[in-house]
Amino acid sequence: MNTDSKIDINRLNKLTLSENSARNFLLEFCWKNHQRHCPLCKSRKLYRLANKRRRCSRCGYTFHDFSRRFLNRGAFNAQEWLWFLKLFTLELAPTLIAEEMSVSYATILKAVDTVRRAILAQSLDAAQFYAAGIWPGPGNPAPTTEIINAPVFGIIEMGEMTLCDLLPEIKAEHLLHFKLNFCLKTASIGQVVYTAPYKHYQALISCGPGLWPAQHITHADKRLPVESSPFWAFTKKRLRHLRGIPASHFPLYIKECELRYNSRNTDLLLLLAQALCAFVPQISGRH
Ligand SMILES: [Zn+2]
Repeated sequence: MNTDSKIDINRLNKLTLSENSARNFLLEFCWKNHQRHCPLCKSRKLYRLANKRRRCSRCGYTFHDFSRRFLNRGAFNAQEWLWFLKLFTLELAPTLIAEEMSVSYATILKAVDTVRRAILAQSLDAAQFYAAGIWPGPGNPAPTTEIINAPVFGIIEMGEMTLCDLLPEIKAEHLLHFKLNFCLKTASIGQVVYTAPYKHYQALISCGPGLWPAQHITHADKRLPVESSPFWAFTKKRLRHLRGIPASHFPLYIKECELRYNSRNTDLLLLLAQALCAFVPQISGRH
């Protein structure tokens, strides 16, 4: 099957004609050249069980095609995932997606969260996010500490691409320190604070109560250089529509914006389908 071209409504219609056709499309992203292997030990020696399950003859693990993958989380079947992805790529509000798909709002929020974690897993610095306390997804223990202030990100524009680098060595309170003691200019959209250039970053961004310690501290400087960045214009518009974002979700949201912006000329649905079909990284034991 050709997985390169754009998935417009006509193609989506064909792909979702039956659960089988939708499933076959997603399976292309799951197994390279239809070669199945054990998700745990990678062995190719498998035997078939009932209900499309397989068992690894080396380690005994029993699995189905979507086991341990992001799309295995939640209650969607393959058809529903594809429809959801289409509406998500079109940036329909979760309440409207829930209405269109006749499922609960909670189901849609969970699906959105799953897609965002799948996006994060694809990024080169995913391990740093997990080290900062972001939950990778099912199969991993829940984080032990709650994220009060989001990590700090640095924005770098490289031609057509923009990167939002996680900066583990800089904390939200450092931004305040730079502002109060070194006159780093700051502005805000809701709780989200962004700054004038810092080192080779066009701006630093973060959010959380730590950036708003007292009423007299405001982030209202005008004409910061990052205002001229197309990426920031793109992201700001979305942040405004959100009307508030919890600090713990901010990193996932920023990564979504980064992907949406960098793939603005390609079909996002294909990228998301691919990300959803990947295995959820397992980091248990490393913390
Ligand atoms: Zn195995």
